[in-house]
Parts: sequence; structure tokens; C-alpha cells
Amino acid sequence: MDMLVKKMQKLTQNLWWTWKPEVRTIFRDLDLELYQRAHQNPMSVLRQISPEELENRATEVDVPARVDRALRQLQEYLLPVTTWGLTHAGALGSRPVAYFCMEFGIHESLPIYSGGLGILAGDHLKAASDLGVPLVGVGLLYHEGYTSQVLDKALWQQDVVEPFDIQDLPLTRAVDRHGEPVQVAVELPGRLVYASVLQVMVGRIRLILLDTRVKQNDPKDVALTARLYGGDQRMRIEQELLLGVGGARALRALGINASVFHLNEGHSAFALLERARYRIQEDGMEPHKALQEVASATVFTTHTPVDAGHDRFPADLAAEHLRPLAEGLKLSLDEVMGLGRVNPHDHGSYFLPTVLALKLSRRANGVSALHGVVSRKMWNHLYPGLQEEAVPIGHVTNGVHLPTWLATEMNHLYESHLGVDYQSSLTRPATWGRITSVSSAEIWETKQVLKARTIRFIRGRSAEMRERLGLPPIEPAPLDPEALTIGFARRFVPYKRPDLLYTDLDRLDRLVNNPERPVNLVFSGRAHPADSTGKGLIQKVAGLLEDPRFRHRILFIENYNIRVGRMLYQGIDAWLNNPQRPLEACGTSGMKVVLNGGLHISVRDGWWAEAYDGNNGFAIGTGEIHADQAIQDKRDAEDLFRLLEDEVVPLYYDNRNSTGIPRCWVERMKNSIRTLAWRFNADRMVQDYVENLYLPAAIGSSCQMPPP
Ligand SMILES: *Cc1c(COP(=O)(O)O)cnc(C)c1O
Repeated sequence: MDMLVKKMQKLTQNLWWTWKPEVRTIFRDLDLELYQRAHQNPMSVLRQISPEELENRATEVDVPARVDRALRQLQEYLLPVTTWGLTHAGALGSRPVAYFCMEFGIHESLPIYSGGLGILAGDHLKAASDLGVPLVGVGLLYHEGYTSQVLDKALWQQDVVEPFDIQDLPLTRAVDRHGEPVQVAVELPGRLVYASVLQVMVGRIRLILLDTRVKQNDPKDVALTARLYGGDQRMRIEQELLLGVGGARALRALGINASVFHLNEGHSAFALLERARYRIQEDGMEPHKALQEVASATVFTTHTPVDAGHDRFPADLAAEHLRPLAEGLKLSLDEVMGLGRVNPHDHGSYFLPTVLALKLSRRANGVSALHGVVSRKMWNHLYPGLQEEAVPIGHVTNGVHLPTWLATEMNHLYESHLGVDYQSSLTRPATWGRITSVSSAEIWETKQVLKARTIRFIRGRSAEMRERLGLPPIEPAPLDPEALTIGFARRFVPYKRPDLLYTDLDRLDRLVNNPERPVNLVFSGRAHPADSTGKGLIQKVAGLLEDPRFRHRILFIENYNIRVGRMLYQGIDAWLNNPQRPLEACGTSGMKVVLNGGLHISVRDGWWAEAYDGNNGFAIGTGEIHADQAIQDKRDAEDLFRLLEDEVVPLYYDNRNSTGIPRCWVERMKNSIRTLAWRFNADRMVQDYVENLYLPAAIGSSCQMPPP
């Protein structure tokens, strides 16, 4: 038994299990109830299960053989003979890309993410691992995690801190080449702040995380890494300095000589100043030359077309924090401040990390084709004299990590029709072309299995919430399992318009309660803890839960996170996204739905603007934008209702064959998978980054190569 426990512990040491259902199910099969209570975290299951229970269950569900098989697979994975990266990213060699991000969403048991940005970063690491691209992630370890959402009786979002148990995570101290644990220090106003450097393995990729819970630190500095997006402006700039400057120092202390710095969003922009400072201080390089060199080895990805989404620090606050870096850079404080100002000579104006990142990166990109256009326009004023089209911001459209988001049953279907090894050629259209040969019955029935599971999950969550709120259970159970089921889950902010369908409740009533063609609607989503507008939207959308017209048809699920997301993406029939165009930079949840055989219904914004072909989902509106937002909202609501009533609902219910399969709907499911899956996955995204950005940038940084 001890031997088995050791082997199981070994399996939990690498977050590789987060995208291996065959590993996760070993732990689930030991004790389902415990598994769920433990946030699907194998390490936690293993720590909490009693030796007797483990012994009994191990034989019942064949654990030893499954563990051996999984360990063998893991070893093979970690020591590959050949990978895409060895062939195509070999030039990066022993100098990996350093990928900086404020949040990483890898699994629900590691709550150091809040939403889309973090999940994209997690997917990026996982795909880089699968492809064998040399890359190391750099982030912060928030020891209180991010908050959980609980609605109170007024349906107002309460933000609950759920500290997580660090011993249930496979974090280890990162050590230098002498085996000594690494600690870094960063100069903040009037003091040095220390951070220990932890690491976690995500397949072949190392993710290093800085943690200020260090003895030498003042308690208020320990709190610097307590919570993601938790504090005021001062805490924010200090977190960003810690991530950027501390992160760059941690890499060096670990002996990681990164070729390229990839800043995923501007939060980590200070890393670039630190990189230049090092060249100036240690190698005696001339300051402006150092800045140029850093720029040529930097890739910067911007994520938000919303002006307010970019950090901007008051001049005094920034100056106070940048003084030590300016000294190290041998530049005047004003020159350094100028790097973060839109107009460098506009003293006293705000300091924007995004501006710093744009000025100090030779290569920048938005996250969809449309977002590239919007970003060039948005930042045109930083490049006086350049035409909008010439602004040096390109795009790499986001993608999602298929093994993370795909239901096991869909994976089996793909394995049997696309080839057992289809995951090694996800980006080839030919791989997905084979979906046309799958019978309608097989794909439809697979989807029904997923849908039944998702509806059970939603009912369960909804019943728990009602009980907590002191509301009576809904009888009969809500959501008709045969009805077209549409999901909507995302951050609740006004521009995403979660309440668009609520503009006409009578029409909504007719839509969802049509006796022949009912529709279920499931909402989920959180607001930033400080955003009362977003919380108001939640209150409104969840507010129908006692309305006799809607309580059987429209549900709100609390605490949208990776787990809730996975359940919704896998089992829902269709996914709704109705933001104000062009404010959705990309959007990725719809891609996860598509992989699982759901159809996407969206405004032509973000990825959908380049993905929709007339036959692989549904588009709301024409893509035109009215200058008056109120008129635009009205038009979009009208068009959304019309689309649902005249196209989506009939496609789902009409043209059923003798066994009840909706032929045209299933045809569109296949079209959607065939035309979208090969493009909007994270392997394609990482390959684009490598070929179009990392490799050219690495050549730009070749002057840093040690002489042969
Ligand atoms: C994918 C995902 C997101 C991002 O989805 P968008 O479409 O960009 O809003 C946010 N939260 C969770 C839990 C996700 O899985």
C-alpha cells in the first residue's frame, strides 16, 4: 500500500494530470464525494482518504494497474523522442521564452486566476508543453487565492475568501544550480521587499511563482501577494513591480537565460526595465542601446480594447516607485517616466504600463484579427506620423487547450473517427475533415450524454443555492432535459450585456415557454469584487428565480470558475455571446463549446468576426456599429430575439428524422467542428507565436548569446 501511495503522490506532482482524464478519474473513483469536496484535487484526496478506504477501493476499481499505466505515460511524455518544438523551435534551444502573466488558470484547485486572461495563460503553458516549446511561466502566488462568489438573499454578490491549502498543491521551492532555494528582493519605496520563488510543473513547462510570505518582510508586504487584483493603486503598482522586476531577477537567479520575454498583458511591463538595467549595470551597455536590445527581444500581447481596462498610475505614485530603476538604468527619472507616458513630454500625466510595454517591444499583438485593427487605431497616437495600418501591432488569435476542455466522451468519438493520434495533429484541417464521416446518430447521442450530465450538475447547483437562500425547491425539477439549452457565462460587465434578453420579458417568456419548442437558459458569471455595476447586473439576471414564468427555464449558477465552465461548455447545446462590438478582444469560451459539439451564437466580434462563415454557428447583427449605444443595444436585442425565434429554435426542433435526430442542427454541429476546431485551439496559437514572434525576436536577442 505504501508503494502505491508513493506512486500516486508522484502522479500528483505534475499538473499534467489536469488535462489527463484517465488520471483524474483514478482519484474520482476512489471517493466521488471526497473528490468533489476537495475541488477535484488529487493531492487533497490522497491526503484526506483513510488508509482503509484507499485499500478497499484500490482493488475494487483497479487502481494499481491504472496508476502504473499513468506513470509510464507521464514518463514518456516528459522524455519525448521528438516534438514539434524540437523541429520548429529548436533555435530557442536552451534559452526559453519567459512568459509573464499576472494570473494563471490551470485548474480550479490552484485559484491564482480570475478569468479569461489567466485561463488563456494556463492554456498557453499546456500547449507549449504538449508541443515541446521551451518556455517558462512567471507569475505570482496569491496565498489567499481569488474570491469565490456567493449570492446573498438580495441576490447581491458576496466575495468570499477561501484560503487554499498550500500543502495540497505540488509547489516546491525553486533552487539555483547549487541546490539553494532562491529568494529575490525588489526595491519598493523606503524598503526592500523579499519574495521566495516557488515552482510548479505543468507537464514539461516550469511555472515559477513569487511569494512574499518571507520572514524579513513587514506584514503589509506579506499581503502583497495575498490576493489577485485585491488592492488599491499602490498595491497594484507594487504587485506589478514584484512580478516584472522580481520575476526577471528570479529567472536570473535560477540560471534561466531567457531569449525572449513575452508579456501577456501589460501588468509585467517593468520586467523590461529590469532586463535593460541588468545589461547596463552588469555588462556596461549604453542605456539607449540596452533599451533597444530589450525591445528587439520582447513580445507584448495586449488584451483589452476598453480604455478603462488599461492600468494608469498617477505620476507621483509612479515616480516614487520608479526612482530605483531609473538610477540603475542611468537615465533621469523623467526619461523613465516618459516611457510610460503617451506623450513623453507631458509631465504630470499618467504612467501606463501598456504604453511602456508598447514602447519597449519590437513585436506587439492583439488577440484576434479585429482586435488587431482596433488596437492599431487605439494606439495610433503613440506613433505620430504613422498611418493606422502601419502601427506595429499585429494579431495572434487566441485558441483553447483541447485536452483541458474536451469531454471524455467527445474525445473517444474523435479518437475513433479522426484517428487515435488525432491530438498530435490538431492544427491540420485534414484531421477535422474526417468529422463529416461520423454518423449523425453517434454525434447526437454523445452530445445527449454530456447534456444530461450538465443538466444534473446545473440542477444540483441551483438546488443548493435555493436551499441556502431559504427558497423552496422547484417542482418539478427545473430545465426540460429535452429542450434546447443555451448557456451564457462570462464576467458581468455592462459591455458584455448579460441582460440583453431581459429588455423584453414578455417576448422572453414566449421564447422560453413555447410549449412545442421550449428553451432553457443558463447564466453564470462573476463581477469584480469592487464593481457594483457588475453586481447589479448579476442581481438582475439571477432575479427571475422566483418568477413563476421563468423559474423552470432560466437559472443562474453561482461561482463561475474552471469547474463550472467545463460543465457548461461540455453539455450545453448553444452558447450565447452578445457584447457591444468591438469590445470583446477575442473571447474563448465559445471555442470550448464548439469542441464539444455546441453551436456558437454571437455578435460578430472578437474571434467570431473571423470564424463565422454562415454555416458554422449563428451571427447576431451585421457587424455595423451605430454611434448611439442605446440604438445599437436595441437593434442587437431585436436581432438576437429574431435570430433565436426564426433560426436557432427551428433548426433545433425541425427536420427531425424518425429517431428524433435534428438533421440540420447536427449538420451544423459538424460544420462547426470541421471549420473551427483546427484553427481555434491553443496548439495553433502557440505555433503562431513561435513562428511569427518568438523566433524572430530570439534572433533579435542573439547579441546576448555567450560567445561560442
Ligand atoms: C474560458 C473561460 C473564460 C474566458 O471566456 P471568455 O469567452 O473570454 O469570456 C472565463 N472564465 C472561465 C472559467 C473560462 O473557462
